[in-house]
Amino acid sequence: MFAEIIVDITNEALDRAFTYHVPDGLGVKLGDRVEVPFGISGRTKTGYVIGLRESVSFPMEKIKDISGKVENAISVQGDLIRLAAFMSREYGTTMNQCLRTVLPVKRTVRKNSRRIDPLLSYRQDTDEKHALNDEQEAAVQAVSVAFQAGKSVPFLLFGITGSGKTEVYLHIMEEVVAAGKQAILLIPEISLTYQTVRRVYTRFQGKVAIMNSRMTAGERYEAFEKCRKGEVSVMVGPRSAVFAPFERLGLIIMDEEHERAYKSETAPRYETRDVAFIRAHLAKCPILYGSATPSLTMYQSALKGRIKLLRLSKRAKEGAALPETEIIDLRDELRKGNRSVFSDRLKQLMTEALSEKRQIMLFLNRRGYSNFLSCRSCGESVRCPHCDVSLTLHQDGMLRCHYCGYEEPVMKVCPHCGSKYLAPFGFGTEKLERYVKGLFPDARVLRMDADTTRDKGAYEKILRAFAGREADILIGTQMIVKGHDFPDVTVVGLVLADLSLQSPDFAASERTFQLITQAAGRAGRDRIKGHVVIQTYQPEHYAITLSMKQDYISFYEKEMTYRRLLRYPPVEKLLTVQFQSMDEDTLSQVTEYVAEHLRGEAPDVSIIGPVQASVYRVKDVYRKIIYVKHDSHDIIIQLRERMSALSREIDPRGLVLLNFDIQ
Ligand code: ADP
Ligand code: ZN
Ligand code: ZN
Repeated sequence: MFAEIIVDITNEALDRAFTYHVPDGLGVKLGDRVEVPFGISGRTKTGYVIGLRESVSFPMEKIKDISGKVENAISVQGDLIRLAAFMSREYGTTMNQCLRTVLPVKRTVRKNSRRIDPLLSYRQDTDEKHALNDEQEAAVQAVSVAFQAGKSVPFLLFGITGSGKTEVYLHIMEEVVAAGKQAILLIPEISLTYQTVRRVYTRFQGKVAIMNSRMTAGERYEAFEKCRKGEVSVMVGPRSAVFAPFERLGLIIMDEEHERAYKSETAPRYETRDVAFIRAHLAKCPILYGSATPSLTMYQSALKGRIKLLRLSKRAKEGAALPETEIIDLRDELRKGNRSVFSDRLKQLMTEALSEKRQIMLFLNRRGYSNFLSCRSCGESVRCPHCDVSLTLHQDGMLRCHYCGYEEPVMKVCPHCGSKYLAPFGFGTEKLERYVKGLFPDARVLRMDADTTRDKGAYEKILRAFAGREADILIGTQMIVKGHDFPDVTVVGLVLADLSLQSPDFAASERTFQLITQAAGRAGRDRIKGHVVIQTYQPEHYAITLSMKQDYISFYEKEMTYRRLLRYPPVEKLLTVQFQSMDEDTLSQVTEYVAEHLRGEAPDVSIIGPVQASVYRVKDVYRKIIYVKHDSHDIIIQLRERMSALSREIDPRGLVLLNFDIQ
């Protein structure tokens, strides 16, 4: 047996791993700390085992023996290597790539690029520490018991919006830090839950390291170094914060557990939920998942008893109640002759709120000005030359592709038939902003979407302005629905709730339910009654009617019936394999070959496809998908390996790339 060993554990050192022979009877595992003779002098150094194999291709006499194992070496490095090994197996990515994900890149921060922390300039909260209510107390107690016992118990904190989940997190973290241990708080995207960060920052003063996805590699490295050296006790950040190298990790919290941002978009395409679970297991510490709208997977685990359920059933703040929610059937508005984007009811509520000096949030899940530009003569829409989608019209007169970023100025004549009759169809946040300003000329309006938040610090600026009452109305895409606590918001309008229902994905209803529930949760967080208006063309859809009642349990049952029927996750495992190639013919050949052989070899397994991806071509790359469903995780992993092998068989030059995803 031979072992790959790195002596200096950094991302860069991976390229300088050394091979050693494992003496018989030593029995080393991945992540073990070992002593090895190093360099010409043969001086002993300690290193970590990052790979094991049966044979080597170079002469045996050049290979030295491992001198010995460092016994009882509990170190975070070892845990992180074991975590990488889990990820490599689970997500079908090389060990090297996983280690690169887990270990920070060594970079220095340029002195002059260091910025003043924007958090420090944020409006001071009046947030004092609260005495917990009974439900909060019970939740803190349960986690505390596991923490004191040094047990890796998983918990799900299922609490409605505004029920005081964050307060629970803060209390447990305080206990952990007071006991000399360290805590990781995962949040979907730092800027999106700015207020949470602010609260942690205030409570833990200098003991917090914060990460966000816009940081440079140097800034991330610096944050990780603070954790490794024990200079901080709390790490707050998005999914990669789960790799914070704390030596005395005592707690992991994953807020808004259901959020899609927790899934890595690049290989290894890890599910933070699972990686965090393993990390907590290795560190023998509790893990607390929190959500107002748990993912079906998580709630199912709770019902099966694999994870302990903790409930918060009422709003925490005295006098704050859930808002009054109304569904508006947009077909009725049309029948009444109302062709505007606002129903009469929403318009009325907005007028009232403005006259009472309250704030309003309007949510529309589509950015840009108009959805697309279409020709009235030939009926064609103007499309991206590199992707199979229509270009979106923006207010600055540009047409943009939301998939690849391609842009061109609006043309005068139809590129298909030369007719002059090009007209914009549909509407996005930019046009909504124009409508709002037309209807309420005195109102101060802010817009938050991918277009207004491109610059570093732009989110913070908009949120700060809205929190500071510099605007009356905040318009935005889904980035405005999460986690924010604006006490003066009394009206929340979901301008076109149907948009997320139309996505071609088995989880579309689940996401719509989450989106509406979370958006509605923004209203009436203080003592004044809140109103939520859901505008839709499908008022009878269960995702809409049940989110209106904030009835998660009924939604869970209904949605699970449908998943059972179609054998979708979490009932069965779903393996999605996306094949990508610039060459359409090769892509078809390879996918047909793989699907056909797999069907022959595994006749009992449900294999669907190949089918074209919902957007078949993106950036001139064609995409086809094969789906595999099975209830055994192990079999899914085997089939994944088999598909890789089959693809290599017919495509030895690797013209087609495979991308795996297991749900
Ligand atoms: P969630 O994270 O569930 O949305 P938060 O923790 O943000 O809820 O709490 C919502 C609001 O209620 C916040 O303004 C918070 O300060 C307040 N709050 C939380 N716990 C209590 C409590 N026990 N008593 C009074 N107010 C509380
Ligand atoms: Zn035309
Ligand atoms: Zn494009």
